[in-house]
Amino acid sequence: MKIEKIQVLRGPNIWSIRRKKLIQMRLDLEEMEHLPTNKIPGFRERLEALIPSLITHRCSEGVEGGFFHRVEMGTWMGHVIEHIALEIQTLAGMDTGFGRTRETKTPGIYNVVFSYIEENCGVYTAEQSVEIARCIADGKEYNLEACIQKLKEIRERERLGPSTGSIVEEAVARNIPWIRLGKNSLVQLGYGVNQQRFQATITGKTSSIAVDIACNKELTKKMLDDAAIPVPTGDLVVDEEDLERVVRRIGYPIVLKPLDGNHGRGQTINVNDWETAKIGLQHAQTVSRRVIVERYITGFDFRVLVINHKMVAAARRVPAHVVGDGEMNIQQLIDKENLDPRRGYGHENVLTEILIDKDTNELLHKLNYTLETVPLKGEMVYLKSTANLSTGGTSIDVTDMVHPENVTMCERISKIIGLDVCGIDIMAENLTQPLKESGGAILEVNAAPGFRMHLAPSEGLPRNVAAPVVDMLYPHGKPTRIPIIAVTGTNGKTTTTRLIAHIVKNNGFRVGFTTSDGIYIQNTMLTKGDTTGPISAEFILKDPTVEFAVLETARGGILRSGLGFSYCDIGVLTNIKEDHLGLSDIHNLKDLTRVKRVVLDSVKKDGWSVMNADDEFSMRLLPDIDSKVAIFSLDENNAHIRKFAKEGKITCVYEEGFITIKKGEWKIRIAKAMNIPITMEAKAKFMISNVLAASLATYLYGFEIEDIANSLRTFMPSAQLTPGRLNVFKFKNFKVLIDFAHNPAGYEAIEDYLKNVESSKKIGIIAGVGDRRDEDIFECGKIAGRMFDHIIIRNEKHLRGRTEEEINSLIISGIQDSGRNVTYEIIPKEIEALKHAMSMAEEGTFITALSDVVSNAIDLVQEYQNKEILEEGK
Ligand code: ATP
Ligand code: ATP
Ligand code: MG
Ligand code: MG
Repeated sequence: MKIEKIQVLRGPNIWSIRRKKLIQMRLDLEEMEHLPTNKIPGFRERLEALIPSLITHRCSEGVEGGFFHRVEMGTWMGHVIEHIALEIQTLAGMDTGFGRTRETKTPGIYNVVFSYIEENCGVYTAEQSVEIARCIADGKEYNLEACIQKLKEIRERERLGPSTGSIVEEAVARNIPWIRLGKNSLVQLGYGVNQQRFQATITGKTSSIAVDIACNKELTKKMLDDAAIPVPTGDLVVDEEDLERVVRRIGYPIVLKPLDGNHGRGQTINVNDWETAKIGLQHAQTVSRRVIVERYITGFDFRVLVINHKMVAAARRVPAHVVGDGEMNIQQLIDKENLDPRRGYGHENVLTEILIDKDTNELLHKLNYTLETVPLKGEMVYLKSTANLSTGGTSIDVTDMVHPENVTMCERISKIIGLDVCGIDIMAENLTQPLKESGGAILEVNAAPGFRMHLAPSEGLPRNVAAPVVDMLYPHGKPTRIPIIAVTGTNGKTTTTRLIAHIVKNNGFRVGFTTSDGIYIQNTMLTKGDTTGPISAEFILKDPTVEFAVLETARGGILRSGLGFSYCDIGVLTNIKEDHLGLSDIHNLKDLTRVKRVVLDSVKKDGWSVMNADDEFSMRLLPDIDSKVAIFSLDENNAHIRKFAKEGKITCVYEEGFITIKKGEWKIRIAKAMNIPITMEAKAKFMISNVLAASLATYLYGFEIEDIANSLRTFMPSAQLTPGRLNVFKFKNFKVLIDFAHNPAGYEAIEDYLKNVESSKKIGIIAGVGDRRDEDIFECGKIAGRMFDHIIIRNEKHLRGRTEEEINSLIISGIQDSGRNVTYEIIPKEIEALKHAMSMAEEGTFITALSDVVSNAIDLVQEYQNKEILEEGK
């Protein structure tokens, strides 16, 4: 067996619209192609011995053990690998559960598809599942435990922390989209101008000055003290003289802690005599010169969480500890504690396992204990100096027990410090009495407080503290998304996208759009290149200035990693024609339909799919579309249009020279095609088609007819604005057309246009694209033979796996098959071919260059135009 390719899908894809996170592994079964599982002696037994939990997989049989039964009866290795992949992820704490295995059109080569939770875990799982299957088949050992541990490690490294994760989960539950920015925990919620950001529990609204105040413990204490909120009395000291003075004033017991400390570093607690106080000062000064000396408050550690100035949760925190039973030593007690199933690896469970570290050893040392010491029955031995959950601490929810006066005080504190998400540490005997009565005090105020102790306390009620964060970022009724129109199809995507974007922009929106030429915001191109995949879509959706997205969405990106958005408002399918067949397991128009329909399947239920009634394969999709559908046609008598009109539905047609919206049988005329420059005086039918698509999509979005009409009239095709889309250059005696047509449908579109062009002679410059099917290259030659009088065959820059001779002979046989007496010649370089064509032009010649590197061709023609103007001037 050999893995040919592992792809990570991240958005709606050909396998599933809802299951966005899938691994697609292309697997060559090689020798295994002839060895189903029942032909490998002992396979089932070894599989069951290695992964007994596969018993839960029902597979197609629908009963427990169903999968094992299939293995016994004989199934192919791809299918086995899919189940192994799902199960090892489950064993590593990532329960997913979606899988598909399909043979491709190449015998022995399969696509094994399964869902993942963390991307890199998915990739590792793919590799290991094949390895596991191979070992089982060969009767070799495989260390499953090591594989699961490795998966857990990758998971902990990759996944969002518990606080960030909880907010993302809450957003997803509310259907708010999210994008992880970078590798850490910075997350964008929402799209474009409606986005909000957060990182752990710092939000885009968290005030920087508030964080500064909270980080300065002394300043925080002073501000709270000034506001009559109880804090431990004390002062800052830098030497023993200071210390003595403070001790005289506040008396014992005291606490010494470094001013800039955290996690309890350098801190000495419950000091009752001068000698210990002096040592405590030295200890604290190893961390910072300035040291806080304050009264030791007795009681328990509490954490109160205030979000958007409302208390949402309170917890009592207990550092990791063990309780003696009079028999076991400390090490044994820790081992026993770690057996608690709630304690897991990293953040996988409610609690974290207790690891023995320097802090633990120091604490034990202070008690004159070692790990071998046997504590008394009922004796509590602390193993950590702080109550953080990540070091094995536990928490008890006490939210409902907080005295109203304390609630008011905590909410006031959050305002005094100015923190939108505020964690207040309180030392007190309890929170059920007002602090002033219990003698408790505020120890510090934390910015970015962790949520895990409230989300999953070890005792008491779990609290959804992520919900108030999302409430704050998105109060009721505040939009989270921006409108998305996605455009797909074989031909006309870029033109339609640009037209729609132009209309949207003229309606006052700041539009971001992606095309196969580049990414644009308003009129500015931000990156150049084929930007029709998910990363480009995300570029637009991440931009905080964009109010409306129009996304050209091509085949390549969908197949590579799925869509870059989970759903769109309007999906436009221009047509499904022969192109790119024979690539990526797409062999015919039916396969291609499966790819293009992903865009329409991603349209929201109450959104619109805009489809071409003149296109057979598009119309075959009609019964499968879940959203509302509107169709367009060049012919108002098209059967589908007539049916739609009869049913009172919305359509868009070309009739009597007008672009017209129909609501049922009622007609609303938008504009005359003659007056829409991109239609080349209504001569280019395919451009009219694109105008119909764009008009219909924008009408359905809700733009006014007059506004659409104005925009259509002001969209000027030009070599700058729409390079390679029917750019006509006029010379004194002849004309040159530069166009990007590169497949039979594109050639036919040009043929149709040329019928309306008057000329004495038509010269064409064409080329075959190397990675297309024989019949497609032949067909292009044939259409060229029909529409030109003389043909110059050139070669593409990239031959994509064929020789020039091969491609050219296919084209030539196409030309000959056209049945017309056409002359042809071969000039490999595009620029040379174009120069030659212009040199042989006579009065009334019309040259059509179906170009590869459009910008070079345009530069050359414009240079010739300038030369002509200069010569005229002489
Ligand atoms: P962390 O980063 O874990 O919050 P820190 O270094 O910021 O720790 P503090 O929060 O000030 O330090 O104190 C840590 C722990 O030490 C407190 O939770 C409390 O248990 C104890 N402590 C600190 N100051 C006092 C005090 N004045 N009286 C009693 N206990 C105290
Ligand atoms: P690509 O897949 O290369 O990005 P595209 O779908 O974005 O192509 P456009 O760039 O709009 O298509 O147009 C490319 C060429 O395809 C045009 O210059 C024209 O020759 C042809 N074309 C455009 N629209 C249509 C149409 N509606 N029907 C058939 N051919 C078209
Ligand atoms: Mg603290
Ligand atoms: Mg394009």
